[in-house]
Amino acid sequence: MARFKRILLKLSGESLMGQKQFGIDEQHLAEYAQQIKDAHEMGIQICIVIGGGNIFRGLSGTGKGIDRVKGDQMGMLATTINSLALSSALTVAGVCNQVLTAIRMEPIGEFYTKWKAIDAMEQGKVVIIACGTGSPYFTTDTGSSLHGIEVEADVMLKGTRVDGIYTADPEKDPTATKFNDITYEEVLRRDLKVMDLSAICMCKDNNFPIYVFNMDVTGNLHKVLAGEDIGTLVHN
Ligand code: UDP
Repeated sequence: MARFKRILLKLSGESLMGQKQFGIDEQHLAEYAQQIKDAHEMGIQICIVIGGGNIFRGLSGTGKGIDRVKGDQMGMLATTINSLALSSALTVAGVCNQVLTAIRMEPIGEFYTKWKAIDAMEQGKVVIIACGTGSPYFTTDTGSSLHGIEVEADVMLKGTRVDGIYTADPEKDPTATKFNDITYEEVLRRDLKVMDLSAICMCKDNNFPIYVFNMDVTGNLHKVLAGEDIGTLVHN
C-alpha cells in the first residue's frame, strides 16, 4: 500500500548528469524512468518538476555579461530540454506521460494549468511541468512548491544525491548527523540549504510537506512510497 495518492516529484537538473560534467547521462535518465514507472505502477498520481542546472542557470550568466532575466529564461529553456528528455525516456519505458510548460511554447508542450495537470494525472498519465514557475528570479524548487500546492499533491518528494538533511554538509563535516524529520522553522533557523528561501516559505505557509531522499539509489523512490523512512521529512 502506498502512503500517498498524488506526489510532486522534484528532480534536479544536475542529477541527470550522472558521472558526466554537463548535459544528460542517458543511462541515468533511463534509470530514473524505471523508478518512476515503478511508482506509477503502484497507482500513484505523479507530477514531476525537473531543474536545468546541468545545462544553464541564470545566475551563472550574470558575471559573464548575460542579462539576469534573459539568463533565467535560458535556464527555463534548459528545464524544458530536460523535461523532453525525461518524457522520451518514460515513453521508451512504456509510461504514458505529458509535458506541460509554464511558458507558452506549443507544440513542445501544452500551456500549463492546474486543471490540465490534474486531468492528465487522473487519466493515468505522468505529468512533467517544464519552465519552473515561468518567471525569472525563481528556481525549480519554488516551481515545485507552487505546482505541488496547486495540483493538491500530498507531498513534495525531493530526489537528490544525498539521503536527507544533515546538521552540516556531511561531505565537509564528519560529525554531521541526519534528521529523520525537521520543521520548516528549524530549517530556517539553522540556515540549512535544503531549498531556496522562497520555496521553503511557500511550503511552510501552505503546510505542504517535503520529503528529501536519495533518488540515485535504485529502488529508493519505491521505498519512500512504501513508507520506509530513508530520508528526511520537513513539516510544520
Ligand atoms: N528558472 C527561473 N524560474 C523558475 C525556474 C527556473 O528563472 O521558476 C531558471 C533559473 O535561472 C534557474 C534555472 O532556470 O537557475 C534552472 O533551474 P534550477 O536552478 O532550479 O535547476 P536545478 O538546480 O534544480 O538543476
